[in-house]
Order: sequence, then C-alpha cells, then structure tokens
Amino acid sequence: MPASPLFRSGFVALVGAPNVGKSTLMNAWLGQSLAAVSPRPQTTLRLQRCILTLPAAQVVLVDTPGYHRPRHQLGKRIARMAESASTDADLVLAIFDLTHAPDSDDVVAIEQLQRATQVRLIALNKLDALPDSALPTRLEAYRHVLPDAEVWMISARRGDHRTDLLERIVELLPPGPAYYPPEQVTETYERDVAAELIRAAAMSCLEQELPHSVATRVDEYLERGETGARVQATLFVERPSQKAIVIGRGGEMIRRIGTLARQEIELMSGRKVYLELHVKVLPGWRNDDLALRRLGFPPEPS
Ligand code: GDP
Ligand code: MG
Repeated sequence: MPASPLFRSGFVALVGAPNVGKSTLMNAWLGQSLAAVSPRPQTTLRLQRCILTLPAAQVVLVDTPGYHRPRHQLGKRIARMAESASTDADLVLAIFDLTHAPDSDDVVAIEQLQRATQVRLIALNKLDALPDSALPTRLEAYRHVLPDAEVWMISARRGDHRTDLLERIVELLPPGPAYYPPEQVTETYERDVAAELIRAAAMSCLEQELPHSVATRVDEYLERGETGARVQATLFVERPSQKAIVIGRGGEMIRRIGTLARQEIELMSGRKVYLELHVKVLPGWRNDDLALRRLGFPPEPS
C-alpha cells in the first residue's frame, strides 16, 4: 500500500477591507454559498469560519472584517476580536481590490498584514475587471504594501488562479490533523462575540460604578433560521451589592444593558435577537483561575 501523503491543516485569516471579495473567494473555494456576498460594503459584522476539507488537508478560513474607524467602543472591541483571529492563524491572506489603488479602507488590512509574524500572502482580486494597460501601475502600488510578500493576482469571480492560490496555501500549512469532522463546513463564532458585546454593554451602562467586576457567559445561543436568534446570558459580579447595582432600581439598569447589548448583537449578526440576561454573584471571580476558565476567558499570556 502506498504511504498516505502527509495531512496538513491550519487556520487561514482572511484580512481585507469590506467589498474586496473575501466572501466571494471563500464561497468559490467551498463550492457553495456560505458567506454573504454583497455589492454594498458589509452590512453585518458576522464573523465566520468556513472549513474546507480536501483529501490531504483541512483549511479553516476565518473571515475577519477589517474595520476602518470603528464607530464606537464596541466596534473597537469587535475589531480587536477580528484582530485576534489573525493572530491565532497559521497563515494570513490579505485581499485587495485591484480595480483601485490602496485606499483608506485598506489601511486596517495593511496594518494587520505588516504586524503579522506568520506566513503572509497577498491576493489582488478582480483581475477580470482591470484593463491590461492599468495592470503594471496598479501592481507597483500594491508592491509597496509589503515588498517581500508573495503576491497573487486572482479573480475570485471568474476563477483566474483561484485554485492555484488554494494549492499554495495548503502547501504552506503545517502538517496536522483535521480539526473538524469532514462534513462540517461552517462555524460561526457569534456566540463568543455576543458574550463580549454583552460585557461591553454592561461596562458602558455602569460606567465608573464597577469597572472590571463584570464577566459574561452566554448560556444559550439558539439560531432561529438565518435571521433570528435567542440568546440567554449570565452576568457575573463579585458581591451581592454589585448585583443590586447591575439590576438597578426596579430592574432599570439591567433593562438598559439588555437593550444596548441586543442592538449590538443584532448589528454584529444581522439577526433579530431576543436577549435574556441573568445576574449572579460569583465571589472573587477575577482572581479565580478556574472560574475564569469556566467563563471562557483565555489564560493570561505569560
Ligand atoms: P467582501 O466584503 O470582501 O466579503 O466582498 P464580497 O465577496 O461580498 O464582494 C464584494 C463585491 O465584489 C460583490 O459585488 C462581488 O460580486 C464583487 N467581486 C468579488 N470578487 C470579484 C472578482 O473577482 N471580480 C469582480 N469583477 N467582482 C468581484
Ligand atoms: Mg464578506
């Protein structure tokens, strides 16, 4: 029996401004429409992993929206989460739109790319829509982004070099096991982001009252079709007196937090959200490693 070829696997962070063709490329590689393609700049901030299982490799594609000028604190938090997705990846693929020179929307992706320490690839997309005569100048403009990165010119839509690029990515991934069952093609991590958004909403409503004493856990995130979700979450505080503050007189504070969090989750997910919040006292959770891990906080970097 011939030796089976080495199996490779890894996470690939797709970074790029809205509208450069990230979703189109993911869908083309997956052979199905899992990510929403929109002719308008991204309307939702939904973060998604798509899993591509090939005979000798598993590629987990992480679509990370690159925000320019987040509108508010919460936007910044989502931007940070998107950033951590690229920090955790084995390979960073930055995508740009060849039909225009790098612009202010590309800045976030360029910075993410320049900061990345992993293998970095650049895909210049929409080759089909660029007149040949404009190509040399445009290519030169993008070379400055990262002079030593490997650059691919592709058309996610028409297919130019689409498969070659995927083969190159597989070649660059480390040997490793399949992380997901082969039949699984997608995983949203809306749930994690929702927990973060609820905590952020609580912080913003409570202001100075209890700065860092609130943790959140999403107990249930039930997607209802493509457009709805029922979310149940718990806010943890350290002391009974803090619980009283978080609930507020007649429940006024918890309602405010809930309304703000719901709006943010709806914005992130593009879903209509029904949100239910509970408050529990968990003494000293901030200094309790086990409690922190149970709440889903990653260990502090040492
Ligand atoms: P995302 O915001 O980066 O995920 O971008 P989308 O995949 O939603 O694509 C944004 C727009 O660019 C859509 O109208 C796509 O049809 C279009 N688009 C994506 N790839 C290509 C391509 O290779 N050529 C052309 N001409 N248009 C493309
Ligand atoms: Mg997209």
